[in-house]
Amino acid sequence: MFTSMAGRAVVVTGGSRGIGKGIAAVFARSGARVLITGRDEAQGALAAAELGAEFLRADVSSKRDCEQMAVTAAERLGGIDVLCANAGIFPGAVLDELTEDILTEVLDVNVKGTFFAVQACLPALRASGRGRIVVTSSITGPITGFPGWTHYGASKAAQLGFLRTAAIELAASGITVNAVLPGNIRTEGLASMGAEYEQQMTAAIPMRKLGTVEDIGYAALFFATDEAAYITGQTIVVDGGQVLPESPEAVG
Ligand code: NAP
Repeated sequence: MFTSMAGRAVVVTGGSRGIGKGIAAVFARSGARVLITGRDEAQGALAAAELGAEFLRADVSSKRDCEQMAVTAAERLGGIDVLCANAGIFPGAVLDELTEDILTEVLDVNVKGTFFAVQACLPALRASGRGRIVVTSSITGPITGFPGWTHYGASKAAQLGFLRTAAIELAASGITVNAVLPGNIRTEGLASMGAEYEQQMTAAIPMRKLGTVEDIGYAALFFATDEAAYITGQTIVVDGGQVLPESPEAVG
């Protein structure tokens, strides 16, 4: 049995839809007090009302917005016990078409955004005495590749490079730093890639279905528990077995 999350203060970046909203929902149902962020004010307010969470408009690629996020968490939640650094973007572009602007945007949001969110929350996480950082990475980059996502894969692998050293730096403060690596999860972001992409992905997954946002939320929740206090610098793949087949024939 795990210790209750009731009353814990949890910040989820990019919690206004998709995986982040699923993570926020799992924490909220566990009794945690949750602050979600995103750039779209209307979408964020809607999600917050649905979840019973707080919302702040904040862009993770802005250091100042991340600092404001930590200030707001202190005001509205009384601190931060858990940071889920989840906000991320994945505009596709093959190498020949990848512009400097797209590359910069993806690295700014996915990599610098992870750094800024973590840095801003560190004082509160230290004060918590049982701080938890859970990064949403991906199988794409750390384990697999897919044409059109060199930049995205590099950004998701960079998050793991970040967390392994951050875990060492923060270990003495009792803060753990871990990551969830989702496979293909049914989200608004994924839906924008079209039905054909979804069919291809489903066929490549041994469980023959995409994951749900809650599947990722439960893995994040596990890392946040008191019982996971001795686990740091680690990853959990949540993908229905997608990374396992040696060839398409192995899926059957
Ligand atoms: P999504 O449905 O597009 O949702 C992205 C969330 O992040 C939204 O709340 C969005 O709100 C927010 N966001 C985007 N850019 C932001 C920024 N600069 N600052 C603050 N918030 C920002 O995407 P998703 O599929 O849930 O992906 C979430 C995370 O999971 C990403 O890190 C992604 O790499 C990872 N992931 C997803 C999948 C998948 O299958 N879906 C698989 C592996 C990994 P606003 O647009 O309003 O800012």
